[in-house]
Amino acid sequence: KRATTRARRLPATITMTLLLRPALFIITAALTSAAAVEESPPPQREEQYKILPSPDLLNRLLYLSTTYPNFCTLTTTQEWFGLPRAGEDGDCPFDELYAASQKSAQGDDEKTSAASGKGCNNYVLIIQDKEAYPNDPDVQLDVNFQTSSQQQQQEGWKFVPDVFLSGSVHGNERVGPTSLVEMSELLLESAACESLPRMKFQPSDSNDNDDDASGQDTTNDAVKFTQEQWEQELSTAQTCRQSLTTNKGIPSPLRQWLARLVTTRRTIIIPTANALGYSRNKREEGSIDPNRDFPFDIEQYHESECMQTIAGRSINELWRSHLFQIGLTFHGGMEVIGYEWGAPTYLNLDAPDALAQDQIAHAYSRYSNGFPGHVPYDFGTMNDKVYYVRGGMEDWAFAGSWDPDRVVQCTPTTYGGYPPEKTVYNNSTLRAFNMLIETSDKKEPLREDLGSRHDPLISTNGRENGHVARNIRLALLAMDVVEPYVSIRGVEELMFEDDVIPTMNLKRSPTSYYDDAKLVWVPGGDKKSSMRKITWTVGGAMTIDGTEIVYGLWDDLPTQLAESTSGLYPSMETRNVIDTKFQVVQPSNVEGGTSGGRSRWHADGAYPAEPEGGDTYEQIYNYDPVFKALIDTGKMPPGTAIAVFARAKVDKDWATSAANVGPAGLGPASHIVNARTNPSYFASNAGKVIHGREYSWWYSDPITVLVGDAKEAEGWDINDPTASGLTHFSLSSNARGVVTAVHVNAR
Ligand SMILES: [Zn+2]
Repeated sequence: KRATTRARRLPATITMTLLLRPALFIITAALTSAAAVEESPPPQREEQYKILPSPDLLNRLLYLSTTYPNFCTLTTTQEWFGLPRAGEDGDCPFDELYAASQKSAQGDDEKTSAASGKGCNNYVLIIQDKEAYPNDPDVQLDVNFQTSSQQQQQEGWKFVPDVFLSGSVHGNERVGPTSLVEMSELLLESAACESLPRMKFQPSDSNDNDDDASGQDTTNDAVKFTQEQWEQELSTAQTCRQSLTTNKGIPSPLRQWLARLVTTRRTIIIPTANALGYSRNKREEGSIDPNRDFPFDIEQYHESECMQTIAGRSINELWRSHLFQIGLTFHGGMEVIGYEWGAPTYLNLDAPDALAQDQIAHAYSRYSNGFPGHVPYDFGTMNDKVYYVRGGMEDWAFAGSWDPDRVVQCTPTTYGGYPPEKTVYNNSTLRAFNMLIETSDKKEPLREDLGSRHDPLISTNGRENGHVARNIRLALLAMDVVEPYVSIRGVEELMFEDDVIPTMNLKRSPTSYYDDAKLVWVPGGDKKSSMRKITWTVGGAMTIDGTEIVYGLWDDLPTQLAESTSGLYPSMETRNVIDTKFQVVQPSNVEGGTSGGRSRWHADGAYPAEPEGGDTYEQIYNYDPVFKALIDTGKMPPGTAIAVFARAKVDKDWATSAANVGPAGLGPASHIVNARTNPSYFASNAGKVIHGREYSWWYSDPITVLVGDAKEAEGWDINDPTASGLTHFSLSSNARGVVTAVHVNAR
C-alpha cells in the first residue's frame, strides 16, 4: 500500500530531492543580492517606538491589510455589524482614507457606503491564516476569498482558538493601540515570510513527484510558477528571513513562533474600541465611560445604563460572534495586571479559576519585564490591586455566561436603542480570561519610556524595554497560552527547519497526512536493534504534567487523521489505533521518575532545557523545553513507514479550586482551564467549538520516519555533503560520518 509505493520510488525521490532542492537555509552573501527582492522593502521605522495618533494608526492598519492580505482582514464594526458611529461631523476626518481604500479594492459603491459617514469608524484587525481556513466566517468578510464548498467543516476552522485584544476602551490611555499595531506588524511579517517558499507553486519540471508536493488544494495544482518566478520565490524567502534576523531582531526560532501564533489562532484586535475618545484624547466616548457600560453587576433598575456606547456595542458584537478563550484590555494610569474579581459582589473572594489566572498573570509580568524606573508589573485581583467597578468589561467577559444573576438585559436609548436580546448570552460566550493591563502610571508616557525595536521578543530590563516594547511581548504571550501545542522538532541530530508552515493545513490536503507531514529517511535493513532519537517540545502551557512519543505503522492508521466531517484532530478512529496498536516511549532526559517538565513560561523556567553554554544559533534563541526519546527502528524491513506523534498533558493543577471562592462551591468555569483539565468539556458559540481532550492528551502533527536501506546512502559523499545535495541531514557522531537521518521533503 502506501509504504510500498513510497519504498519503490524512494531512491529516486531522495536523489531528485537532494539534487534539485536549493540550499534555501544556507544563507550566503551571494544569495542575498538578488535585485528583484528590493522591489518592496519593508518601510523604515524609527528605532524608538512612539505613540501613534488615530490617523497614523489607520495608516498602519491599512498598510498591514494590503501588504499581508492572506493573514489579516481590516474591517469596521459598522460594516460588520451595522453599528452606528459615535461622534459628530468634524470627528475622525481621516476615516475617508479607509473609505477610499475600500472603494478601490471593491469598486462597489453600495458595499463601500458603510465604510464612512458622520463620526468615527471602529476598526477591527483580524489576524488568521486565511489560506489554511478559507471557510472561516471571518475570512469570508474579505470578498476576495471564496468558499470551497466541499470542505466547509473538514478544514477544522471551528476549532481554531479565539483571542481578543482591546487597545483602548478609555481614549486618553494611549499605550495599548500602538503596542497592538506594532505587535501585528511583527506577527504578519513573520508569518508571510515563513509561508515562503510556497511549494504548491513549484514548477512541475523540478518537482520530484506529483503526489509528493504539498498538501494544497487540488484546485491550485494547475497554477505553477515559471522557473524564473520560482527562483524569485526562493530568493524572497531567503531575503525576508535575513531581514527579520538582522533588521528586526527576529531569528529563525522566533520567526517560527510568531508564524505559529498567526496560523494556529484567530486573533481579533480592536485597537481603539473607543475610537471617538482616542481621536479626541478623551477618556469617555462622548460623555459615557465605556468600561461601565457592560451588563455585569450593575445596580438594580439601571438596565438603561448599559450598552450605551458604540465602544461597548462593538465589543459585545465581537464576543457574540466568536468564542474567546483569552483576552487583554489595555488601560493606563497605573502599572498592574488585574484579573477577577473586579466587581463589588465578590469583594474579598477568589474567582474559581484564580490559580490559573495567577500563573498566567505572573508569566505576563516576567516576560514583559521592567526597565529603569519601572519594575515588572505587579499582578493580582482587580478588587485588591485596582478597584472594583460595576459594568466592567473584564468580569463580564469572564462570568457573563455562568453567573446569570449578575447579568441584565440592557435597554439603552442612545443611538436609537439596542435590542435587549443582544445582551442575552448562551452558556459559552462569556467564559474568558480577559485581563486588565494597566500599562503605565502616565496615561500617555514620554517617548523615551516606550522602548525600542531592538530584539523585540527578548525579555529584558534594560533601556531598550519600555511601555510599548513590553506590552508587545505580553500580548504575544496571551496568544501563546490560549491553547497548548506539541511539536516534533527533530530526528537524530537533524533539527527541522520548519515548525508550522503558514497556508498549509494538513486537513485540507487532497492526499493525506502521510504525504504531507515531515518525512525523514533513516538507514535500516541491518536486522539489529537501531535506536533513533526523536526531539520535541511543548508550548502554550505552564506545567507539562506528562509527555511522550507514540509510534506505529502508517498502514494501521486511517488515510485522514482528522474527523472527515468536522476536522477535529486527531479523530476518534486515529486515537483508537494509537491506543491499541502504537508503542509508547517516555522521554529519556527527564529526572525524578516523571515524564513531565515545564514550559518556557513557567515561573521556574523551561525544563528539560538544552545544556547550559550551548552556543549554536538555535540554542541561543530557543527557550522551549526539549524532550528526547529513542524509538527502535531496527528489525523493520526497508520501506517500513512509521508514524510518530508526540503528546502532552498540561496544567492539571489549574483544576484546583481557590480556597475562598465566590460564588461558593464553584470549580473552574473558564474555557481555558476546562479545555485542559476536563475531558468531557464542550463549549460552542457562533459555529466555533471547544472540546475537552480524551485523557487530556494534546497531540502534535505526525512525522514520518521511513526506514530505508543503508545502501541508499552509499553514493553520498559525506566529506562534502552539500556537493551531494544533502542540505537537511544529520551524520552519526562517530568518525565514519554515516548519514543517520535525511529530511526528504524539506522546503
Ligand atoms: Zn482605563
